[in-house]
Amino acid sequence: MINLLIEIQKNMGIIKKNKKDIKEDSNVSLLKEMKKEFEAEKLNYKNIDNKFKKIEEDMKELEEKISKLKGDIKIDENKLYGDMKYDLKFMETLEKSIKLKENDIKKLEEDSLNLMYEEENTSKERSKSRKKLMDLKEKFYNCKESSSENRVRAKENIVKAEGNIKKFEQRIPKELLDEFNELCSVKGTGAAVISKGVCSGCKMKVSAVTVDDIKKNKHIVYCDNCGRIVHYNHSIE
Ligand SMILES: [Zn+2]
Repeated sequence: MINLLIEIQKNMGIIKKNKKDIKEDSNVSLLKEMKKEFEAEKLNYKNIDNKFKKIEEDMKELEEKISKLKGDIKIDENKLYGDMKYDLKFMETLEKSIKLKENDIKKLEEDSLNLMYEEENTSKERSKSRKKLMDLKEKFYNCKESSSENRVRAKENIVKAEGNIKKFEQRIPKELLDEFNELCSVKGTGAAVISKGVCSGCKMKVSAVTVDDIKKNKHIVYCDNCGRIVHYNHSIE
């Protein structure tokens, strides 16, 4: 009979532990952290992407400037080497103007090259951020999955333990069960077995009187240290 009580206690312990696991699911706070990290990285990615787009626009603008200057030079050169004859002064002015434009093109091309390096670096940065985002997402969903798996398992354990308790309770006299439940809820103790004179609940040696009471097969015997039920004689009502 005491063993049935011990079994009930074990199952009560299982229920308590699983309820605690559900309540203190460490994955929940972990998921919150991950979500925060993900949002921050998303913002970072957006900034990098905007920077990349700006570089592309700047490059396009530079290319347009260069091509406009090249066109202008062509016009100047046509005038210079064309059939129309101009005076020397005008031709000097044209040559000077061509030289200035060629210098401008050189500068713009240098700028364009620098932008190309910048574009390459930003593109790498963006890929890195994208990969980080994907990793975070995967980590998040894995964690979420294991969290809900743990929750389902914990709930299953609770249902199973509750079923076990019901089954055991049916085999225990009402009087003993009431006494046991009272001890469980009020004192948080319950039942224990005495082995070699030691109580399995409080791990203390019980008194000779207690040992004697058990030997005499008394109705209900309690541990004289912790008060747990350690013996019950069904035949005495
Ligand atoms: Zn005890």
